[in-house]
Amino acid sequence: MLALSAKGVLPRVDYAIFADTGWEPQAVYRHLDRLERYIAEPAGIPILRVSSGNIRKDALDPHHRFASMPLYILNQDGKPGMTRRQCTGEYKIKPLKKQVRELLGYPYPARIPRDVYVEQWVGISTDEFHRAKDSDVKYMRNRHPLIDIGWSRADCVKYLTSLGLADTPKSSCLGCPFHGNAQWRSIRDSSPQEWADVVAFDAAIRKGNARANATGNRLLGEAFLHRSRVPLDQAPIDHVTAAEWAALQQELGDSAADAQELEDGVIDSCSPWACRGEVEPVQDDFGLAS
Ligand code: SF4
Repeated sequence: MLALSAKGVLPRVDYAIFADTGWEPQAVYRHLDRLERYIAEPAGIPILRVSSGNIRKDALDPHHRFASMPLYILNQDGKPGMTRRQCTGEYKIKPLKKQVRELLGYPYPARIPRDVYVEQWVGISTDEFHRAKDSDVKYMRNRHPLIDIGWSRADCVKYLTSLGLADTPKSSCLGCPFHGNAQWRSIRDSSPQEWADVVAFDAAIRKGNARANATGNRLLGEAFLHRSRVPLDQAPIDHVTAAEWAALQQELGDSAADAQELEDGVIDSCSPWACRGEVEPVQDDFGLAS
């Protein structure tokens, strides 16, 4: 959408905002720099980078509140569960709304008059139109320009390719549990340093978040980044095991789409404005939401 706006295909936006969780792959930060330099700046569109912290550091900091990631849990009785997803709200929606309020001249907690609002573009394509939603606040009015012009994901890829941006990476936290096997393999096979980073993080959250441990909360299971609920460096990311398939069926129901999800990750992943309700959660007794 930024490129379409910068090139005049769509109207020119006043700003583009990137919510940085502090733990994106290096390829995403490089891509953002490139977009800024070659697409946004020449068109006079500022890219605002906003953040409410570093999700990786915060998860491992005993003095910091941990906005829970959607971790896979193995309870003491062997039953699988998931922790509540709070991270999208904390690390993406919160700083985006804060920035928008500031742009409007009404920083929190100022009351925003009814007729003051931004038009906010959300990049949902026609093949995922069911994710398009209205905003939950009156000072943001959502629009979905890709749907308006009838563009599918393939159309977007074709356009990016025409701009020399065919290698546009997917934005998400490096260690997001929503990754499918394809994404885990890609990290392992293309970026040994980042693979070591996620493997270390996976081991560090095994017994729950640092704050819960520090405050003496008893932990009742183990947490994992990979859906198979085994340590990431041993997880079957090269193939789908029977156990993984069974666990997946139990979680999501039996359909062909599930197999695709195991490989590709949770399709809707972490768009701040199009959260995927079904992956919200299940498990409260593990102390990871504190
Ligand atoms: S990418 Fe994953 S871990 Fe990061 S904020 Fe989104 S859901 Fe949470």
